[in-house]
Amino acid sequence: MFQTQDPNCLFCKIVKGEIPANIIYQDEKCVAFYDIDPQAPVHFLVIPKVHIGSCGELNESNSVIAGHCLEVISKMTKELGVTDFRVVSNCGEQAGQSVPHLHFHVLAGRDMTWPPG
Ligand code: 5GP
Ligand code: ZN
Repeated sequence: MFQTQDPNCLFCKIVKGEIPANIIYQDEKCVAFYDIDPQAPVHFLVIPKVHIGSCGELNESNSVIAGHCLEVISKMTKELGVTDFRVVSNCGEQAGQSVPHLHFHVLAGRDMTWPPG
């Protein structure tokens, strides 16, 4: 299940090493890497290695990976010395999703506003 990738997906290509990324953590289930266009002093993404389109495709059989990604976020923020941060997962074009592979943005290092734009 965790080996399934989409050959046309940008983030699957990062998982496979076909496109370079500044990877800060990886294990058998997920990869964390810095965003190419950072929106905060700290901005990295955590993605499952398996191709899941977005949070909207999570279900009983694959949602364990989302919990794992959040666990990795907790671990990585501690390693980076970050205590205050925002986790965002855009789901669908109207919500601002541009890469259709589930990812969690982690943003930190500046004041954040609410509600988000
Ligand atoms: P979304 O817009 O789908 O919520 O987030 C996609 C994120 O992926 C954006 O913040 C964008 O800057 C980032 N991104 C797009 N292409 C690449 C890439 O090739 N490498 C890295 N590291 N980030 C990327
Ligand atoms: Zn993918």
